Amino acid sequence: MVDKGLLIVISGPSGAGKGTLCKALLNKRCDLSISVSMTTRSPRAGEVEGRNYFFVDKDKFESMIEKNGFLEYACVYDNYYGTPREYVENLVNSGKDVILEIDIQGALKVKEVYPEGVFIFILPPSMEELKNRIKKRGSETEESLILRFKSAYKELNYVSKYNYVVINDTVDNSVEKLHSIIIAEKCRVDRY
Ligand code: 5GP
Repeated sequence: MVDKGLLIVISGPSGAGKGTLCKALLNKRCDLSISVSMTTRSPRAGEVEGRNYFFVDKDKFESMIEKNGFLEYACVYDNYYGTPREYVENLVNSGKDVILEIDIQGALKVKEVYPEGVFIFILPPSMEELKNRIKKRGSETEESLILRFKSAYKELNYVSKYNYVVINDTVDNSVEKLHSIIIAEKCRVDRY
């Protein structure tokens, strides 16, 4: 029988740099897979259907909810986001390690159904830096910037629900840490 792969859940406040780290980690570790979420939010400039997200309308998303098509889903900043259940389960069951880059509500739901997952929280080096990173993104209106920043503060309370925390000072350091966490998890005696 094939050993199951790891389900690696990466979350943290908007602007902490999860997206950049996941991309860099996947470049370093081509054997990892990333789950592509479904969302009802509009694509940002440069985002590609099927690579960044599957962009769908509310009706399509809600019909997927009815069919139990999501491992978890959440409403984040007035839009739905969800992790396609079948895609992720097939990969993990075939021995692949899969990364989910999802928000905290979603991570906590995954933890309920999949407690053996590896839950990693990404923190910015400081809240000032977090504000700069959200601003620099440039895609946010003043209103959504404030909303994202406020919820980032609240989200810090959830760090203790995770197995690991990575302070994202530089991309290289953080990717090294993520890589080390995955190696350590693979060596755990209680995985077998
Ligand atoms: P963004 O709009 O910046 O791409 O993502 C907003 C938030 O939604 C981020 O915190 C991101 O991690 C989260 N997110 C993306 N995909 C999913 C998903 O499938 N489920 C959940 N719960 N959150 C997601």
